[in-house]
Amino acid sequence: MREMKVLSLSLMLFWSTLACVHAQENDVLMQVSTIDALLSGIYDGEMTIGELRTHGDVGLGTFNALDGEMVAVDGGFYQIKSDGTVTKVEDSFKTPFAAVTFFEADNEFNLEAETDFDAFRQRMDREIPTPNRFYAVRLEGIFESVKTRSVSRQERPYRPLVEVVAEQAEFGFKNVRGVMVGFRCPSFVKGLNVPGYHLHFLTKDGKAGGHVLDFHTSRARVAIDSTADFLMMLPQDTAFSAADFSTDKQHALGKVEK
Ligand SMILES: [Zn+2]
Repeated sequence: MREMKVLSLSLMLFWSTLACVHAQENDVLMQVSTIDALLSGIYDGEMTIGELRTHGDVGLGTFNALDGEMVAVDGGFYQIKSDGTVTKVEDSFKTPFAAVTFFEADNEFNLEAETDFDAFRQRMDREIPTPNRFYAVRLEGIFESVKTRSVSRQERPYRPLVEVVAEQAEFGFKNVRGVMVGFRCPSFVKGLNVPGYHLHFLTKDGKAGGHVLDFHTSRARVAIDSTADFLMMLPQDTAFSAADFSTDKQHALGKVEK
């Protein structure tokens, strides 16, 4: 009888340890390359979407040759091309820049008053316990309006991102059901990722979306996943190795994001 108790106690300890390890593993923001590499025109990477999937089910990024915007929602990876079409991504596709995590909500709330992107940022900043951690964000509901953009496939030699987005395709949606996912990164990620909020959108029917420029909603559910750990996988190729990242690119980033 005593052995049974010892056995069940050690089993309980075993399972609680496993559960703990599992939760910690999922609280990781995994990022491919750096935002400064993307700003510098390094548009080809080695990581496949098949491998990216093993690091998360929610996130954003782009594809090799800067072929559109990537959005990952509930484990589905989608490509929003510059002509506005959306396709589910094959595992063999590659990404030069992406960030993903396994989404587990730590905090949820409803947006009931008229909220635009700026008001959303302010509300979020009141909800999070500290600005100095990474948060994955999921925002689902009905949007009175959404403005997005996508970038078009580039040819070598690649131009810097700020020149490419000057020709970006913009899309407007009215009274559309959909989901926005992305991240709030701390100010200290300058050069690595986008400080503040970065969201990508996908309509409920999966037929449209893009990098979020602005939106209005009064009926949306917000979920926040605090991610304590940050894992960055740097490219091994010569373009990244030979690049000069000594100059500050925050000004260019400001132009690219808005
Ligand atoms: Zn984006």
